[in-house]
Amino acid sequence: MQLGYFHRGIPGWAFVLALTFTCAALTTSPAFTIAENGKAKVAIVIDSAATSARRQAAEDLAKHLVKITGGDFKVQFSPAEDRPNILVGQQAVNMIYPELNTEGLGTDGIVIRTADDNLLLFGGEPRGTLYAVYSFLDDPIGCRWWAQGASTIPSIPTLVIGDMDVKYVPLLEYRDFQFKTTGAWASRNKVNGYEQPLESIDGKKKFNYIAHNKWSSHTFWTLLPPAVYYEDHPEYYSLIDGKRVHSVPKNKHTSLCLTNEDMRKEFVKNCRLALWWHPWADLFSISQVDEGGEPNRCMCGPCTAAEEEDNPSGLIVQFVNSVVEELKKEFPDVTYQTLAYHYSQAPPKKTRPRDDVMIQLSSIGCSFNTPMYESRDDNPRHNQFHEDLVGWSKVCNRLYVWDYAVNFTYHRLPHPNLRTFGKNIRFMVEHSVTGLLEESDTPGCEMPELRAWLMARMMWNPYLDAQDLIEEFCRGFYGPMGEHLLAYVNLMHDAVEASGDYLNLSSPPDAKFLSIENLTKAWQILDEAEVAANGHPAYLARLRNPRESVLYAFVSAFDRLRKEAEETGTEWPLPETQLEINDLLDPPGPLAVLTLPEKWKFKADAGKEGLSKRWFEGEADTSWVPISVMDDWTSQGHDYHGSAWYRTRFQLPADLAGEHQLRLKFGAIDGEALVILNGDTIAKLSGHPWDKPVYVDLPRDLDLNEDHQLAVQVTKNQYAAGIWKPVRIVK
Ligand SMILES: [Zn+2]
Repeated sequence: MQLGYFHRGIPGWAFVLALTFTCAALTTSPAFTIAENGKAKVAIVIDSAATSARRQAAEDLAKHLVKITGGDFKVQFSPAEDRPNILVGQQAVNMIYPELNTEGLGTDGIVIRTADDNLLLFGGEPRGTLYAVYSFLDDPIGCRWWAQGASTIPSIPTLVIGDMDVKYVPLLEYRDFQFKTTGAWASRNKVNGYEQPLESIDGKKKFNYIAHNKWSSHTFWTLLPPAVYYEDHPEYYSLIDGKRVHSVPKNKHTSLCLTNEDMRKEFVKNCRLALWWHPWADLFSISQVDEGGEPNRCMCGPCTAAEEEDNPSGLIVQFVNSVVEELKKEFPDVTYQTLAYHYSQAPPKKTRPRDDVMIQLSSIGCSFNTPMYESRDDNPRHNQFHEDLVGWSKVCNRLYVWDYAVNFTYHRLPHPNLRTFGKNIRFMVEHSVTGLLEESDTPGCEMPELRAWLMARMMWNPYLDAQDLIEEFCRGFYGPMGEHLLAYVNLMHDAVEASGDYLNLSSPPDAKFLSIENLTKAWQILDEAEVAANGHPAYLARLRNPRESVLYAFVSAFDRLRKEAEETGTEWPLPETQLEINDLLDPPGPLAVLTLPEKWKFKADAGKEGLSKRWFEGEADTSWVPISVMDDWTSQGHDYHGSAWYRTRFQLPADLAGEHQLRLKFGAIDGEALVILNGDTIAKLSGHPWDKPVYVDLPRDLDLNEDHQLAVQVTKNQYAAGIWKPVRIVK
């Protein structure tokens, strides 16, 4: 596969080479003068009927040229005769060059070209002209839009460019991630996906779903809800252990019985209704439900036989093909998507997706610090993905990948996957992948600005070098701290490469690369960065996120790191207790009255007798063991699920004057909870988020001179459980 970016006289394989040549032309062979000594020398032209996107392209070009050169640039509707023109958009180009068109440029492809005394910036509709302008401002001129409110716009009072003849159509037609951006940022960095806040002036999104929630993927249930159908038609849903069910104890959702013809007819009917009611939808998902993994799929005779003959994906593709065949007659312009995910990851043995069905293949089992094309001996899922991607690339016409850019469980941990991303994206486009979503919707992930910028840039041109981009970003975005942040990023990437770790979706804090040695070094580097920032508030604000990632690693692997520090003689770089380190990460705030102790008493309640036997009062005997409220009990050696009790005592500060509605703030409780103060139940908590603070009002008449006994019963029957963040009393 060949890149389409070429430069006059240079074969079309090297984006970087073309730009190097162009940059050289800036100084050595002046051809087109945009400004001289701060005076504008060109007119910027668009057509008077320009779309809002083309108008935005011309106006943003003018705005940038004003900043860059100091000249007075204005947009006009017809070419100037006394000076050269920058013609923006095909319609403006055609005022002088009627023969030029946008054939082959698709929706996003660009042309940047000098001709006679003019510069031509245009592209396919709706976004190509915008992208031509931003590509031109980016290179050769050197503008960089790092993040919202952080750009580098060079100052060049005399701006002269050499000959240019660039035509480029991005290999990925769909480029998307979930880092928070603005429409302007996304447009300038040329991401075009559904997750971007793109408006008409940004050329809109590549696709429109009916809606995000329950419609963008995992739609089997959305289109055939059990609440409507199950009672009359249990046969539409999975046969599990001889019974038709839509839920099982382990999974909230089961799948559909995909070989049931009546179900299929009803499903098609609902698809048609959905598309009629949402005429703007041009991407329609027909895809398996999600259980954060496999749903329970149908085990009836025909479904099992079809899966055996053609793989689970074969059965899904047969179903989707037959649905799309009917929908296509009425909705020919819609793109139909289905997932290859978990049990359907391997391609079918026989069935081929229709040409108009897009397969979105999930990389969920991969190691994100190992390129997709390298094998791993320690986990077959990584190698399986490689095989499946190659397999799908041979059998489907339109292949997208759903990839994962961050840590989805330990959000804030360092997650050094960027070099691998750079290698993977080339591997993907070389195997016919034309769309990429990087799932990244997590709060507080490490260095989101770097991730977003690098990924946007490489999605536009997969042949850029990730390490070069990391270096460029660190120096640009972090300014005087740049070298230190680069050292931090390199340290983490080098460490994970040397570790053999398997960086997955939920890579834990005990990953080898998060050693006391690396984290101590990281902390020192970030201290040096702070010195380099020299008190500059904007740069200090940018340092906060990487600092938090390192602190988070210290808090979440505290015991192990203390032990490693003792064993290796490493000087401990942070405060002595887990709670104090946590306070650096998540400060108590001005409303905090008291932080309760880190160590409480703990007792499992397998017989569920704690409440009736009043475990919440009196003295705790030796059957109670110490526990930290900074981590779930399951991570502290208690391999136990069910109900368990926590107890502690506290006294309010004597100087707490005045009337206050005091509240207990639990940093996070994973599980249902019963909160008992001095023998009285003050709260029953359920349905709260497992990872966010929960507040409980305290009685208003709490005595400042008394000792108060607090007990919390937490109940959870699977996974991690317990109180796992600081408990405070706040005003
Ligand atoms: Zn079935």
